[in-house]
Amino acid sequence: MGKITIKDKTFKPYISAEELQTSISKVANEINTHYIGKSPIFIGVLNGSFMFMSDLLKEINLQCMVSFVKLASYEGTTTTGKVNELIGLNEDIEGQDIILVEDIVDTGNTLVKLYEILQNKKVNSIKIASLLFKPEAYHKPYPIDYIGKEIPNAFVLGYGLDYDGYGRNLSSIYVLDEQ
Ligand code: 5GP
Repeated sequence: MGKITIKDKTFKPYISAEELQTSISKVANEINTHYIGKSPIFIGVLNGSFMFMSDLLKEINLQCMVSFVKLASYEGTTTTGKVNELIGLNEDIEGQDIILVEDIVDTGNTLVKLYEILQNKKVNSIKIASLLFKPEAYHKPYPIDYIGKEIPNAFVLGYGLDYDGYGRNLSSIYVLDEQ
């Protein structure tokens, strides 16, 4: 694996496809064990989570449902400013066990908005699974229950994650080359 350039930036190999699959198997095993006898709904946050969701779900042996959502943010008419709306969720999730599937948790701002919207739908439980996690950037109250891999504060690309819309199709993770 060599360096790649997308637009004005160069990225170097960081996490191989093999290492990703090992991390994903670990997460799948944890979830399979914790949810024995239960029937959770996996909710992926688009666009970044599509590859992780796909590989993770192949290793989940529970009876489960899968759905994808997008967080849309628009200016409200009140003084409170931005309003967040969840698009794409057609299932009735009241009373259900939710596993929120994220590509990466950085500051956690996105996650908190999603979490609060889901909580208001009277679900039974919410757990968070993220392929990558930047602990140095995260100062929010919700625990990240299932983590593929912790990484330092750096910009990464590939396996669902983009730079300016490109790079999501890469099967491994690259990191911005600062040189
Ligand atoms: P947060 O709200 O936790 O700061 O980050 C939310 C979103 O920002 C992630 O779901 C992801 O789409 C994007 N993001 C955060 N860190 C990175 C990164 O290192 N690389 C890429 N490509 N996207 C990131």
